[in-house]
Amino acid sequence: MASLKLIPYPHPTLRHRSKPIVRVDQELKDMIDEMFEIMYEFRGVGLAANQVNLPIRLFVANPSGDKEEGPEMVFINPVISKGKGTADAEEGCLSLPGINAQVKRNKSLNINAYSMDGTEINTEVDGFLARIIQHEVDHLDGVLFIDRLSDEIRRPISDQIAKFENSFESRRKSGEIPSDEALRDQILELEKKYCL
Ligand SMILES: [Zn+2]
Repeated sequence: MASLKLIPYPHPTLRHRSKPIVRVDQELKDMIDEMFEIMYEFRGVGLAANQVNLPIRLFVANPSGDKEEGPEMVFINPVISKGKGTADAEEGCLSLPGINAQVKRNKSLNINAYSMDGTEINTEVDGFLARIIQHEVDHLDGVLFIDRLSDEIRRPISDQIAKFENSFESRRKSGEIPSDEALRDQILELEKKYCL
C-alpha cells in the first residue's frame, strides 16, 4: 500500500458513503497510525478515512490536536444517536484547507462505535468532541461542512470553494487524478478487503 495522502475537495471519494468495516488487519492498523501522523502534520483534530482516499467507515480524532497530550481516539463504524441542543461554532476541514465557517451542530449526542482493539464504545459526548464526531461522521456519509452552510454564510467563501473546484479540474485534465471509473475500482477493491 502506497503511503496515504490527503485528497482535497472536490475529489469524488469525499462524496462516497463508506461501508461498515468487518475486519481489521495489521495493514489497516498501520494506515490508522499514518492517519494520525497526517492529522498532526496538518494541524487537524479529526480525520475521516475517506479524506485520505480510504473509503471505509472509520475516523481518528484527538481534540487537543497534540500528539503529546492526547487522547487519541479511533472510531470504527460510528453511529450517532440522541442528538440534543444546537450550537454554532467555526469549523475548518483538512479537505478544504484555509476555509472556515460557522456551522450549526447538536450540542450533545450519543456515539456507538468500536475502538481499534474491538472494544465497544457507547457514550454520551458534548462540546468540542461532539462537534468533531458530527463533522467526521458526515465525511463517512460523503457530506462536507460546506454542505451545511446557509447561503448567507456560504456566499463570502464561494470564491475560495470555486478555486478548489478549478484546481481539481485542471489536475484531473493533466491525469494527476484518476478517472471516476478507476476510482470506483479502487473503492471496490478496498471494500472487498475490509467491508464484505
Ligand atoms: Zn473535514
